[in-house]
Amino acid sequence: MRDEIARAADRAARDPATVHLIAVTKTVSVETIREAYDLGIRDFGESRWQEAEPKIGALPTDCRWHFIGKLQSNKARRVAQAVGAIHTLESSGQLHEIAKGEHVVDGFIEVNAAREPQKSGVLPETLDEFVQDVLNCPKIRLRGLMTIGPQNASFEEKQNLFRFLAAERRRLGLEWLSMGMSDDFGLAVQEGTTHVRVGSRIFGHRV
Ligand SMILES: *Cc1c(COP(=O)(O)O)cnc(C)c1O
Repeated sequence: MRDEIARAADRAARDPATVHLIAVTKTVSVETIREAYDLGIRDFGESRWQEAEPKIGALPTDCRWHFIGKLQSNKARRVAQAVGAIHTLESSGQLHEIAKGEHVVDGFIEVNAAREPQKSGVLPETLDEFVQDVLNCPKIRLRGLMTIGPQNASFEEKQNLFRFLAAERRRLGLEWLSMGMSDDFGLAVQEGTTHVRVGSRIFGHRV
């Protein structure tokens, strides 16, 4: 997997070290995550708190956990205390709860770049306002933007969305971009992503 990312980085004339691999472990057992840990992986992504909490407790403390699923406000404080980064900031209710916590967490704002009605994330026209809200939250270090490429989009559509997000990151002066999954990480690397979230390509298809 790291080789594939390195090849995609080479093609884009990028330093492979600027692309972080997050192994997405939803539905994956603690035993299997430990095997990945033994192979040197330290960044893990989970999308449901009920599932993440026991895994975080069972794995060594030098793992870095990324919360990548829909984050209900009423769980936001607990999640922010337990993980290194939240990729799915999208509502002021979340920020309000996270502000009550102790630790400072790294944050990505999820952008619904394709304006899919069923999908979470802020719409492009409300992004600037939400950036200000996040910057005003004392317990979040705003680091970047995140998006999920629409499943049935063509190559060109996804490329346009990834380019849009990369341009927004530059405009806002942010460091990180969380985009690219098993099916589209090569394209995301080409378009400048810094964090790819890969599940099935590493662990096999989820049942
Ligand atoms: C499940 C998931 C992934 C990983 O998906 P794969 O296609 O298995 O690589 C990445 N990002 C998010 C937000 C996810 O929910």
